[in-house]
Amino acid sequence: MRIAVWQARGRGEPVAVEGTGPWSISAAGVRAVDEAQAPLDGAVLLPGASEGLALLVTPEPLEGRLARNGQPVAAGIEVLRHADRLELADLRVWVSAAAVPVEAAYDPAIHGDEAFCARTRSRLRAGEPIVICPGTESTPCGALYKAEAWALGRRCHHCGRAPGAPAWKPPVLEKETYRDLVRLAIDSRPVD
Ligand SMILES: [Zn+2]
Repeated sequence: MRIAVWQARGRGEPVAVEGTGPWSISAAGVRAVDEAQAPLDGAVLLPGASEGLALLVTPEPLEGRLARNGQPVAAGIEVLRHADRLELADLRVWVSAAAVPVEAAYDPAIHGDEAFCARTRSRLRAGEPIVICPGTESTPCGALYKAEAWALGRRCHHCGRAPGAPAWKPPVLEKETYRDLVRLAIDSRPVD
């Protein structure tokens, strides 16, 4: 299943994370990884096959430090649901079933050499802002657009997705939630 992953630090705005999974979640943040290169000190997030939306694999070092919707997570595997929130110190991570357009900087090593904007047909230059079309419910996509071409607001040439199509977004951070997160971060420090 195609899922969307978001991350935010502290009071920062959530941003969608690139990739189709797996992802690693560590104090350094969320990033797309090969299963083989997932770091031992990080949790791994895998898109779910049949059960649930995604699987969270938590290693021993993160037991009790990683939380799901405010509750500390035990080492092992958990099934995540749409809109679940993970917390690790000041990092917050969300998973959702709704695929979202991902903003990125074009990198030939990640997005492929000789890539062209799906709308303007012009060649993408390394480092230039692009948007990756997530596709629709029925059609995964992945077409690359120059950010300004995507912003024109026309339907995707490949899958027909409307750029303004509503997508799930992480809820706005409330003061109470932030206070809970700070408390959790303090409470979960190892005791000597
Ligand atoms: Zn598309």
